[in-house]
Amino acid sequence: ERIVSGESEFNEDSFEYSLRPQTIKQYIGQDKVKHNLEVFIEAAKMRQETLDHVLLYGPPGLGKTTLAAVIANEMGVNLRTTSGPAIERPGDLAAVLTALEPGDVLFIDEIHRLPRAIEEVLYPAMEDFCLDIVIGNGPSARSVRLDLPPFTLVGATTRAGALSAPLRDRFGVLCRLEYYNEEQLNEIVQRTAAILNTKIEATASEELARRSRGTPRIANRLLRRVRDFAQVKGNGDITTQLSREALELLQVDRLGLDHIDHKLLRGIIERFRGGPVGLDTIAASIGEESHTIEDVYEPYLLQIGFLQRTPRGRIVTHLVYEHFQLEVPAK
Ligand code: ATP
Repeated sequence: ERIVSGESEFNEDSFEYSLRPQTIKQYIGQDKVKHNLEVFIEAAKMRQETLDHVLLYGPPGLGKTTLAAVIANEMGVNLRTTSGPAIERPGDLAAVLTALEPGDVLFIDEIHRLPRAIEEVLYPAMEDFCLDIVIGNGPSARSVRLDLPPFTLVGATTRAGALSAPLRDRFGVLCRLEYYNEEQLNEIVQRTAAILNTKIEATASEELARRSRGTPRIANRLLRRVRDFAQVKGNGDITTQLSREALELLQVDRLGLDHIDHKLLRGIIERFRGGPVGLDTIAASIGEESHTIEDVYEPYLLQIGFLQRTPRGRIVTHLVYEHFQLEVPAK
């Protein structure tokens, strides 16, 4: 398991739950998204209408689930949660929709994984708040229209491109979540430390923020591990020295890169003279799936300018050579 993965670990839910900001004010960063949502929420409340359907997209761990809960809270309605893979048959979705109360927010995580047949049930529900149900089968089958209470669908996906166009078009509000900067992550680390009743030195918190790959989930996870270390090796307070030692043991380098990033980057340098090299070739050479590299490993490396995608393949930039203290080869 990767400590610097943006994905949630299997036992992390209750820990994360206790840290979730409840209001827009408590939600750190994502200023553009927050500002837009504030206006739309305010307007919907003034008109006493439900908020338009919202699509949240961006890499894992940036706060989509949290934001869905914040939206419901700010609208003063209930949040119902499900996910694309959990809805297997049209009847599953019908059950969720008919249980909604007027105004509720229905959050569907990983919405790009909804089967197409189920998406089609969702279209009239989103547009006209109704369900078309087929009763019986064969020649006696007939279609019945069921009214639903007005609701707001909040969909979340890590890959907006994987969503079908008809589904995407039915969202009135599209919000793209961005990686957080160090200052915002520092604020998140300090907020979490305060909730956990843990003292943390300012430089230690900055150090954690720098190694969190722009992702609050990683910031909170690193903090939790470093806190364990401080508890056992010290008096529980997180000093700069203790946090350095812990991060060293966790093998998370000063930019938040771990052994997998190192293997990928060094592989391109050592075997392909820094690239360009095709994705499939890299995948075969380090024994990983191409799509795992593309979806999981690459985005952050592209984001910090360590990798570039070109038509001829991937290239490592001079930043990588500097990071590993290697000489940039003459080409
Ligand atoms: P996934 O789609 O993989 O579940 P996500 O984008 O829904 O990820 P969340 O579960 O909402 O991510 O957030 C992960 C953790 O990060 C939560 O514990 C939450 O407390 C924290 N977090 C996320 N965004 C913020 C924020 N803006 N301010 C403070 N904490 C945040």
